[in-house]
Order: sequence, then C-alpha cells, then structure tokens
Amino acid sequence: MAKNEIEKLLIRNGKLVEAGGSSMEDLVLENGIIAARGKFDASTHPGCRNIDANGKYVIPGGFDPHVHFSLPSPAGKSCDDFKSGSQAALAGGTTSFMDFVTPRRGQSLMEALRLRREEAAESQTSFGLHMGISEWNPKVAAEVVPLMEKDNIRSFKAYLAYRDSIGIGYEEVYELMRVVGPAGGLVMVHCEEGEMISRLQRRFLSEGKTRSTFHALSRPPEAEIRAIEKVIEISAKTNCPAYIVHISTGRGADLIASAKKDGLRVYGETCPHYLLLDESVYDPSCDDMQILPYILSPPIRVKDDQARLWERLSDGTLDVVATDHCPFNLYGQKDRGLDDFTKIPNGAGSIRHRLQLLYTFGVLTSKITINQFVSLTSTRPAEIFGMGHRKGKLLPGCDADIVIWDPDFETTITIDTSVCRCDSDVFEGFHIMGRPETVIMNGKIIDQRSGNPFSLPVSK
Ligand SMILES: [Zn+2]
Repeated sequence: MAKNEIEKLLIRNGKLVEAGGSSMEDLVLENGIIAARGKFDASTHPGCRNIDANGKYVIPGGFDPHVHFSLPSPAGKSCDDFKSGSQAALAGGTTSFMDFVTPRRGQSLMEALRLRREEAAESQTSFGLHMGISEWNPKVAAEVVPLMEKDNIRSFKAYLAYRDSIGIGYEEVYELMRVVGPAGGLVMVHCEEGEMISRLQRRFLSEGKTRSTFHALSRPPEAEIRAIEKVIEISAKTNCPAYIVHISTGRGADLIASAKKDGLRVYGETCPHYLLLDESVYDPSCDDMQILPYILSPPIRVKDDQARLWERLSDGTLDVVATDHCPFNLYGQKDRGLDDFTKIPNGAGSIRHRLQLLYTFGVLTSKITINQFVSLTSTRPAEIFGMGHRKGKLLPGCDADIVIWDPDFETTITIDTSVCRCDSDVFEGFHIMGRPETVIMNGKIIDQRSGNPFSLPVSK
C-alpha cells in the first residue's frame, strides 16, 4: 500500500451481534477504529474495500483475560510464547488477551513488569498484564499504588494454592485488597486452599500413591469452595472488587450468585475445560500418558458441576469464559511427573478454539444465546478489566477489532489445526461448528496463520 493511502473497510450485509442485542447494519472501519455504523452501500463510501458478510455474524474480536504464555515452571516454560500464543489467539478470533507478571519472591514488582513487557513485545495482538503478588511485605505494599498510577496496572492476582512458590494466605489477600480496593483496582484470586492441598499431597506420596490420578484427589472441590467463601468475605470487608478465576465447581458458582445478590462486586470466570470435560478423563484404568494432558488446577470435576456451570453462564452469574491457556508438552514436560503427580506441570490450552467451542456447545445447544456468547468472550472481560470503552463493542469510536463469523463451517479439532506449539490438545476429536472466517484487528484484515496484516489493494 502506498504511504499515505488509508485503508478503509466497509463490512456489509452481515448481522451485527453484541452483548445487548443484534441488528442488520453495516460498519465502516477507518484509521483502526469503527468510523460509522448504519446502512451503507459502496457508492456512499468510495475507496473502501468491501467485505460482503451476507449470512455471517459480525462480532467484536474475542478478549481473553487469562492466559499464561512462556510461564516458567520446574519443567520449563509453558510451550506457547507471546508470538505463537497470540497467533493461535488470532486464528481463533481472539484479538486481545491478558497475561500475568509473576514476580519471584524478593524481586521488585516494577522490575518484574519491565522484564515481562520485554518478553511480551513479540505479541501479534494488543495485550495487557495483570500483576501477580507472590508475597506480602512493606516493600511489595509500597509498589502497588505507584504501579496503578504510573504503569496502568489495575488488576492484581493472588494464588491461594502453590504456597511454597508463589501462593499467599488469606491474611495477605486481605492486606492486598485493603490497598487495591480504595485505589480503584481489582484483585483476581486463584481459589484453592493451599494448605489442604499440601496436606493431601504429602499423605498420598507417603502412602506410595504417586500416579497422575492422585492429582485430582489431592485437590477436592472443598478446597475451591472454602477459598471462594473466604475471598468473598474479604472482598466485602475491604470493599475491593474480586474476580474469581477458573471456577470449576457448581457450588463455587452458586457462591458468586449469592455474593452478587448481596450487591458485592464479585466476578466469576470459568473455562472451556470445566464446561466440556468431566472426571472420566482421570479414569484410573487409563494409562498415565493418556491422563497427563488433563492435569490442570483446579482439576476437571464431575458432570453435575459441568451442568451447574452452564446454568450459571445462562443466568448471568458467571461473567467470563477465559482459557487459562497454559499448555505444556506431553513429552519432555508433563511426563516428568510420571512417578510423582506433584511434579506434573499444570495446565492445558484452548485459545485457538475458545470461541468455536463455546459457540458449538453453548449457542447451538441453546444453553446460552449468541449475545451471551459475545458478552462472555469479549464484552464483559473488556469491561471488567477497564477496556470497555474501546473493546468488546461495535460502536463508532471503538477499536476496529472485529470477527466475521461463518456459522456454517464444520470441522474436527486435531493437533495439526491447533496452531499452538503443544504436542497434545485436550479437545482433540471434538467436532465443532462455526469459525472466525475473517479476523480484523486495528482495522486490518489479519492473516490468521502468521498474525500479520494482509497487504490489501484499495478497491475502486
Ligand atoms: Zn491461570
């Protein structure tokens, strides 16, 4: 494209789908933003490249607020880095994501943020970072408000699990919320009681119960439910909004419902694996190599939990479906824990297929509406994390991050189509419908394999 030539796109004849409703309207995209919305034709907008979206849905680009690219673990880093992970995101219709800074104990938060930003620079999409809090002391406490004011960090993440590395306790979460709440931020919490888990892990190992099936048994539903209960209490006491990540149990989701009924600012997130997989993936009669891909925390639960989570998506209790994308290779990483389940790196990935999975198993089965689908995967996470004025909507002035969704496409997930770098995929073999046929980011059509914008001629 010539230097001063501005690429303009006109998306016509599609059905715009947003959280609040749907309408047959056209969009003009210019200078990276949505310039106009209404009924247009080529003659009113000369110089635009026309995209015919007849029979398609036009939706805001996906926003995934919970991914872990290049996450360090004793078994090496999670296998998607910011480049491959963001390319997988784009291939699946997700145009923005949020990852985490995970400072080591003793490390300055600002220093950890600087290093993580360097690592993240190779991302092909726009992104944000949450700040992990892996210890609480006067030095850490003093960094929190300056990070919010100067570095635009407004979400902090606490892990109640993983106490021997990055986890903190309830008292420390209380102290964190007491600082973050009044300053206008939000605290995300991984709700699993670390002490209960450590106790069970030690017991199983001492009894010689070392195989992968003991992972889930060492992290019972009560570990999550008790932690969610406590965190809601702390959120109420400190008046600090809480965002509960990856809720895996129906009872956990019910607690979010009652907190919301009480008027508390408590948000709930779940993930595709809790909605679509059940405990049969941990069948002890299976070989451990078959079970390893499903080792993640909290673990996959029973079918009743799955059903309840869907109900809680449908009734609006849960705000977000994120991926917690954190895949580790089966060979060379997960298999390091074959003789000791506590050494298996935890995590799986679904950023490539989040939208297609939720569309197929949520919208097409009428468990959620297509408007809820957009809300859960884009609008709500953008709003909760302070990007609602620019992302998750199809309004003039918003970023031109848009997906043209072909509802008729069908395919089966295989490891070859996943784009991610991982050697296994927990959704392999799932038959899915719909696809992001065209992905537009900052007003440019994206080559979904490379993550680069296509060079487009301007139509006359
Ligand atoms: Zn996570």
